[in-house]
Amino acid sequence: MPDLPLLNITEDHHVHTRYCNHAVGEMEEYVLAAIAKGLRSLTFLEHLECGLSYSPQIWLTPELFQRYFEEGEQLREKYRGQITVRLGAEIGYTPGAVDKLLAMLDAFPFAHRGLSCHFFFDGKEHLNMLSRRTDHIQKIEEFGSEPILDAYFRNLIQGCQDIPCDKLCHLDAALRHNAPVLTAHHHALIKELFAVMLEKDIALEVNTSGYELRPQPYPALPLIHQARQLGIPLIIGSDAHRPEQVGRYFERVQAELGQQA
Ligand SMILES: [Zn+2]
Ligand SMILES: [Zn+2]
Repeated sequence: MPDLPLLNITEDHHVHTRYCNHAVGEMEEYVLAAIAKGLRSLTFLEHLECGLSYSPQIWLTPELFQRYFEEGEQLREKYRGQITVRLGAEIGYTPGAVDKLLAMLDAFPFAHRGLSCHFFFDGKEHLNMLSRRTDHIQKIEEFGSEPILDAYFRNLIQGCQDIPCDKLCHLDAALRHNAPVLTAHHHALIKELFAVMLEKDIALEVNTSGYELRPQPYPALPLIHQARQLGIPLIIGSDAHRPEQVGRYFERVQAELGQQA
């Protein structure tokens, strides 16, 4: 196994804020929660999406990103010396919206960039592949999870090539409420994705929100081990959508990965 740094559980690289309309809590409450847990750094990674036919809006507009950066910069100063606060984006890849995404990445000083893909276009509308919405779970069932996952992994492969990013978020969380089994074909696409990540120096996020739904993080432990063996760096994120979720299950995932502190 390559000599990689251990998963550093004193940093949370993925939290949201009330600005995205589906998380709760002020930015400062997330910072205070991170300090209370003894974390050394906290990275806000707010939702950036472009080109979607979807409502309600569950991502930040340019106006909201403006406020996010103003508030985040103030907190960075206020808590300097206690914790490092970082400001970034979770960039949702949508084919056809690359120019718009790149323009947003140019417009704001995103220091950290996670890539993900949340939506599938069924020909009429964008279906949210990660939502608890029963209407979307139903439509996904009707469309079939196999072609949706095929498009999902291909989008991530293309996204890593089109979008400058430093980590890939919650790799196998798509269709999490439909709970499909990954096929050999999907695993082949993941191998292809890992090769691109290695080439582009993109880390794999170990997203501990997975434990809320199943006894595994996102991605599942065998995929994390596979990435590690290839030499892909690992980075941890709670994907907190409430302040009390900051740093959730960090000790658990570290223990399960068989690592020493
Ligand atoms: Zn979210
Ligand atoms: Zn996400």
